[in-house]
Amino acid sequence: MKPLEQLVRKNIWNLAPYSCARNEFSGVNATVFLDANENPYGNQLNRYPDPMQMELKQKIEEVKGIPANYTFLGNGSDEAIDLVYRCFCEPKEDNVVAIEPTYGMYKVCADINDVEYRPVLLDENYQITAEKLLAACDDYTKVIWICSPNNPTGNDLHREEIVKLLESFDGIVIVDEAYSDFSKLRPLRYELPRYPNLIVLNTLSKAWASAAIRLGMAFASPEIIDIFNKVKYPYNVNYLTQQQAIKVLSDPYEVDRWIQLILQERVRMQEAFSLLPLCEKVYPTDANFFLAKVTDAQSIYDYLVKQGIIVRNRTRVQLCKNCLRVTIGTRNENNELIGALRQFK
Ligand SMILES: *Cc1c(COP(=O)(O)O)cnc(C)c1O
Repeated sequence: MKPLEQLVRKNIWNLAPYSCARNEFSGVNATVFLDANENPYGNQLNRYPDPMQMELKQKIEEVKGIPANYTFLGNGSDEAIDLVYRCFCEPKEDNVVAIEPTYGMYKVCADINDVEYRPVLLDENYQITAEKLLAACDDYTKVIWICSPNNPTGNDLHREEIVKLLESFDGIVIVDEAYSDFSKLRPLRYELPRYPNLIVLNTLSKAWASAAIRLGMAFASPEIIDIFNKVKYPYNVNYLTQQQAIKVLSDPYEVDRWIQLILQERVRMQEAFSLLPLCEKVYPTDANFFLAKVTDAQSIYDYLVKQGIIVRNRTRVQLCKNCLRVTIGTRNENNELIGALRQFK
């Protein structure tokens, strides 16, 4: 890996961060807060939230095993994705390499930040080789984006190839593990101490059933986390979100039960789907959704919409012609989908 100073944009490396009232104060036992121009009256929500979300980060350490100084929290993973560009990529100069197809936000944020995005096509099994990704890199490539299990294809990417990238790429490798709770592979976040150039993304939006509160995580070396913290909005995760996240993370067994139910339903749904006359192929999955190739994705999608059932039509995505992406729902929701598709003519 290049020295971090060479990877981070010069203006960011040199940035003196805004110091908010709740940052400057770190003493114990304070009871009178006259430092932040808040209204002293009110309703539990009159105070600014903890800018570093320490209580929540401690809870995350208990549940996910990553210490607070390796943890950045943001307004969804989307905030971390955008921060990666703002911290590492000089507009119109640097570039990033990513797999294709994958989650759309990596490219949208590249375009917003005016950073060149270099997609590298997966093979016919939706897999990568480190060699092919590295061949797309040059001296200006700061970041390689990996998503595993990948969206929309659903599969885990080969771990050995990701490790090769971590060992041979001299920039940052980001592995989005939004769906790792549904996979049998050991999450890569546990390997962080071995790879100073690794950033792992997690979210409460999927397995943790909390998409509405918007909480995303980036796990990385303390040096990288310090850079993110310097650039983020001071109070980027609001108090209600922090409180609700602590509550949800306090019952991981409930989440485990949901995951087991979803995995059972996933087996049943892939089987039922593959028996439908309109289905040409069900792809293997390690996530809470699967991709299926059908006879005519657009007309089947339109038909389902008329029945009030929404799946994701991915037919215009590269390597996904005539593919629908189906999220695993409750048993009843899943039965409704299969029932409707059996009536399709
Ligand atoms: C759904 C999803 C996310 C979640 O994004 P949030 O902003 O945290 O809701 C992140 N990455 C991938 C690949 C996803 O599919």
